[in-house]
Amino acid sequence: MYRKDEEIARRIGIAIGERRAWSQVVADVAARVKPHDIGSLCSDCRWEPYGLCREGVAHIHLSPQLRELPPA
Ligand code: SF4
Repeated sequence: MYRKDEEIARRIGIAIGERRAWSQVVADVAARVKPHDIGSLCSDCRWEPYGLCREGVAHIHLSPQLRELPPA
């Protein structure tokens, strides 16, 4: 997981240990990650085939904020 964190951090231009506002992280994802990138960035993740993260990146491209979670 640390290797994946490093890959994704490098992809959005943030250094390990660097602090950045969440809104900026979301903007960086929108600017630097395309939904289809999840297939290669996360190819060895067991959650990748479900498509939720790809869909999440697509959502961020449309609206620069995360959706609210449904009520528990
Ligand atoms: S597919 Fe989703 S859960 Fe898996 S590594 Fe990628 S972003 Fe994280």
